[in-house]
Amino acid sequence: MAAAVGAAEGGLKKILILERLPRLGGILNQCIHLGFGLTYFKEEMTGTEYAARYKKMVYERDIEARTSCFVHTITPQKEITFVCADGEYTVSAKHIVMATGCRERTREMLTVPGTRPAGIFTAGLAQEMVNIYGVMPGKEVVVIGSGDIGLIMARRMTLEGATVHAVLEILDHLSGLIRNKVQCLDDFGIPLYLQHEPLEIIGRDRVEAIRYRNNQTGEHKILPCDTVLFSVGLIPEQDLLIDAGIEPGNGIHLVGNADYIHDYVDAVTREAEKLGRLLA
Ligand SMILES: Cc1cc2nc3c(=O)[nH]c(=O)nc-3n(C[C@H](O)[C@H](O)[C@H](O)COP(=O)(O)OP(=O)(O)OC[C@H]3O[C@@H](n4cnc5c(N)ncnc54)[C@H](O)[C@@H]3O)c2cc1C
Repeated sequence: MAAAVGAAEGGLKKILILERLPRLGGILNQCIHLGFGLTYFKEEMTGTEYAARYKKMVYERDIEARTSCFVHTITPQKEITFVCADGEYTVSAKHIVMATGCRERTREMLTVPGTRPAGIFTAGLAQEMVNIYGVMPGKEVVVIGSGDIGLIMARRMTLEGATVHAVLEILDHLSGLIRNKVQCLDDFGIPLYLQHEPLEIIGRDRVEAIRYRNNQTGEHKILPCDTVLFSVGLIPEQDLLIDAGIEPGNGIHLVGNADYIHDYVDAVTREAEKLGRLLA
């Protein structure tokens, strides 16, 4: 949206936003906590409010946006093929801005041993379940990894009545922002165990416990729980480029979390608006 607004302000007339979900806004739509917009809009807002503000800017500039349209192929000649509810389309562009965000690292990528019962989620998926669909992933929770989404979900799950027993972090320091540790863990009495490594997920149909090791003392412990949330990093979503064997450049541009992972949406917005203006 920010790249489109920047391009429109630079005078570009033919702009098309393609979004696979039914609404614009990306990850912001599931972020109902405060902490967005402090430097860009100079006020503190939720992610959903930030997205709404930006959608208004898109619509006020008459920028064409098609939602529920999944882009499945791009080519070096800058042809884009996408599927919508009413069929498949191919358009060509002078410039393609890839603002496809990022995806979460999973348990499989960490290769945590054990069984594969229900109750194992990435933190962002758990956030979508709670904040968008109103479904609780579980009640007795352990968070693996101290990334921001895990810290925010530790608080969110607690506010919704779950017990978060611990956040386990293999490193000797926090991965997420200090402000999130203070506001999401310390304020709710949720312990953060640094240098602790998950060794085994235990359970047949549903998660029953997690076994972990204190890497400083070598001590093993089994912590009963019914839900494990992984918050172990984000990976820029560049599959469209990788599948097509295309490097960015020659009119194909990466921006936002698709380029590299940003802590603040304000920075994504600034970079994308600037890119849009440069393209215009
Ligand atoms: C839990 C969490 C908490 C955060 N907290 C803060 C905070 O407190 N303050 C702050 O400033 N920032 C925060 N951030 C960071 C900020 O929200 C993000 O950096 C920013 O919103 C990312 O924007 P983006 O456009 O790069 O990606 P996204 O918002 O992920 O948007 C990518 C979009 O591309 C779409 N898409 C992907 N592939 C395709 C395809 N093939 N076809 C069509 N559409 C596609 C996706 O559906 C999505 O809508 C937080 C992020 C998270 C996840």
